[in-house]
Amino acid sequence: MIFTKPKPMKEILDSLAPYEKPLILGCGTCSADCHTGGEKEVADMKKRLKSEGMGVVEGVVVESLCNLEKVRRALKDKKEQVKEADVVLVMSCGIAVQVVAAHTDKPVMPGLDTVFAGVLERIGHYREMCSICGQCVVGEYGGICPVSRCPKELLNGPCGGTIDGKCEVDSEIECAWVEIYERMKSLGNEGSLARIAKPKDHLRSTHPRRVNTGKGILKGEW
Ligand code: SF4
Ligand code: SF4
Repeated sequence: MIFTKPKPMKEILDSLAPYEKPLILGCGTCSADCHTGGEKEVADMKKRLKSEGMGVVEGVVVESLCNLEKVRRALKDKKEQVKEADVVLVMSCGIAVQVVAAHTDKPVMPGLDTVFAGVLERIGHYREMCSICGQCVVGEYGGICPVSRCPKELLNGPCGGTIDGKCEVDSEIECAWVEIYERMKSLGNEGSLARIAKPKDHLRSTHPRRVNTGKGILKGEW
């Protein structure tokens, strides 16, 4: 899941200052689960912008703003509102902002900051689990990612600075390498950590990346 956090209101208001009639788009998947861009947050934003004297056209939550077909369908269904708006405020991740920008001739502004891919532990508590590196190696580390859970991204750890099982970079988190060792030990495979892991193939994480599985039909061009 992609985690987002609200931008400071001043930043949003500054970005909307040249405009009068925003259309607000939220996302019913990740941003809804994060409580940053679901029905309630879009309604709250609508109220807030109205209180700032803006003529908000509408607040709409699309089922999934990173799904091209769903975005196209939603913008088609709301074509009158899109026409009336002079800016679109997207309360979702940076992916969604770009998808919406590619499908409207209106200026598009982000209402959220995209922070990471991770897990929702409980409401308001999120944890980064994956840096989307393009070459997953967690199988070699007992299912614990050293790339995103160790601040030094060590494939050959630990760094030696671990204090009572905590990370020397951030004492509020567990040392990922202590967790990796304990997990591998419980699997009876801690000996495999003695090998020297080769550097990752960073060519697999050059941007922009594209994947075509050959399945499904993409209607039209991006
Ligand atoms: S190894 Fe790469 S793809 Fe796998 S969980 Fe870690 S960051 Fe994500
Ligand atoms: S203490 Fe552990 S998690 Fe922190 S940087 Fe060192 S090896 Fe990585």
